[in-house]
Amino acid sequence: MNRRLGWLFALAVILPSALLAALAVRAIRREEAFIEKQLAAGLDAEVLQLAASVGEELRRVEEALAGSAPQSGAGGFAAWRKDTPLVGVPFLLTASYDLAWPRPGQGAAEREFLRRHGEFLAGRQQSTVYTNIALAFRDQILPSVGAETEPPAAAAPASAVEAEETRAAALEPEADEQAKAGAREGKSAEKAAKAEAAQQAVSAFESDREVRRKAYAQAESKGQPPAPRNVSPSAVQAEEGEATGPPPSVFVSEQLHFREMAAGRQSGLIPRLLEEGIWLLFWKRLPDGRIVGCQLDAGELRARLLGLLPPAATPVRILTLLDERGQPLFAPVEDPPRDYRRPFVAREVSELLPRWEAAAYLTDPAMVASRARLASLILWTLVGLLTVSIAGGGALVLRSLAAEVRLARQKTSFVANVSHELKTPLTSIRMYAEMLQEGRQRDPKRRRQYLGTIVEESRRLTRLVNRVLDFARLDQGRQSYAFGPLDPEALCRGVLENERPRLEQEGFAVSFEARGRRPPAGGEVRGDPEALAQVLLNLLSNAEKYSGGRREIAVELAREAGKNRIRVLDRGRGIPPGAVRHLFKEFYRADDSLTNPVQGSGLGLAIARRIVRDHGGELEYLPRAGGGSIFQVELP
Ligand code: ADP
Repeated sequence: MNRRLGWLFALAVILPSALLAALAVRAIRREEAFIEKQLAAGLDAEVLQLAASVGEELRRVEEALAGSAPQSGAGGFAAWRKDTPLVGVPFLLTASYDLAWPRPGQGAAEREFLRRHGEFLAGRQQSTVYTNIALAFRDQILPSVGAETEPPAAAAPASAVEAEETRAAALEPEADEQAKAGAREGKSAEKAAKAEAAQQAVSAFESDREVRRKAYAQAESKGQPPAPRNVSPSAVQAEEGEATGPPPSVFVSEQLHFREMAAGRQSGLIPRLLEEGIWLLFWKRLPDGRIVGCQLDAGELRARLLGLLPPAATPVRILTLLDERGQPLFAPVEDPPRDYRRPFVAREVSELLPRWEAAAYLTDPAMVASRARLASLILWTLVGLLTVSIAGGGALVLRSLAAEVRLARQKTSFVANVSHELKTPLTSIRMYAEMLQEGRQRDPKRRRQYLGTIVEESRRLTRLVNRVLDFARLDQGRQSYAFGPLDPEALCRGVLENERPRLEQEGFAVSFEARGRRPPAGGEVRGDPEALAQVLLNLLSNAEKYSGGRREIAVELAREAGKNRIRVLDRGRGIPPGAVRHLFKEFYRADDSLTNPVQGSGLGLAIARRIVRDHGGELEYLPRAGGGSIFQVELP
């Protein structure tokens, strides 16, 4: 039975607790990564927003310059520079792409301009054009992710220039709407399809690591390796599982002549990434075929981009733009200065500003760890509490279950015992009564003996039934006592003198001893004499039943200050140590097998203790030196 309860405990309590704890440990381990991911996702959205707004700003810059550029050529340059702060050094190309303005010897700024861009504008040198890799390899990416390929008309190899157009369409927030509107006008359904394909390619590239890997491999094989970036974002790196060095750029580059870049277009911006930094060139085709343009004023451009930054520093993050050298456009004063090449998340800004990054940093880099620690502390505490309460509750349930089982077992053996006890006297009563009824025994002495046995056995029956009834009454709290002044010595003597003849007849040596001063008349104890006599009777009857060979019973009364102690001593078998704590429980018998020669109900001591306690006293068992038991009643 206990084994079964053990298994039950393991299954219902230990196993679920262990599972719970294992789950919690797993969750805790992932906590830091999870918090970092959440933060990274939030900051990435901000960074993306910033990068998009830089792209839009560059388009606005281009529009503004196109709108203000002089139609007349070099004649309007002075006014253009004056009215449009974005204009740095203007230039003019003839229709056959010869540099007509500025001329050497005009001024320091012009000389510098010619040194930087002269060869390129005059068509004698190529310059680098950057393209989003997802757009450059759109036609390879789309089939690999199962997207529909474009209609044949649009499926021409994506050149850098065409890619730039579709990029502008795709990355514009309302690209779809615009494209649809265009289609409705019947102008370019083809353009709409291209924009959609571009968008699909970009998102496939963003979301699928395998697509990214393939695209980079293709770029490599085509001799267009992406340049490494200026920064190593820590959150992105963790996700990609790359341990060393900055991740590759999303832009692939291509060398083109100015003529090729301008082919088929009316205006544009061209980034010139030179050793000393980036210069943006604006150009616009005039109606007569000449080209006007300018090198943008770097300070003014930076100022306009700086104006795009949302509040740069919050308690959580610092958001900023990094230029081509990895220097922040804006940096809050910090001590020690932070390493801006290691942002938390970052994105490249635009094809037109290669190597520029929109980057976010954690204001407090230890935040993720400390948040994770706090979260795991809370989780551990909860798990601890839960486990303790599950285990504690389970143990309590099992304990009461075990107690119930024990009680049920004792009640069963109680019924068996009581039936047995009822049957024995009933059998002898019936036997003697039948013998008398049939009148077979004529000897009057024998007949009196039979009658005596019948009376004695009936008494025994009555005692047994009374005991069961007493117990029921006590158990239900229906017992009522007749309290009154009482002399313990008289009580002991009375009970003992009643029992003495019978005990002595059975060979017991019975003694009584009272110590201490006798109380003044009126008594010092208040109690119900009948109930207390019942207690003594039960103890005497146990001493008699469990005495075995050494038949000595002693009753001692000790009077002390405020206390009366009555002891019933025998020289019987005593109580085994393990049984002592159950001794006073109802139905408990140290040996409750049916083969036990001593009959009993397991109620005598339970009843006795209940009565003593109802008197404010205590009934205890003490082992007796030299063998035997001491049952001690203490009355206040
Ligand atoms: P019962 O005697 O009817 O079995 P009790 O409640 O009087 O029930 O006693 C409970 C058990 O305590 C007994 O079954 C017996 O094992 C043990 N016991 C009681 N009194 C003595 C005693 N004087 N000596 C040895 N064992 C005793």
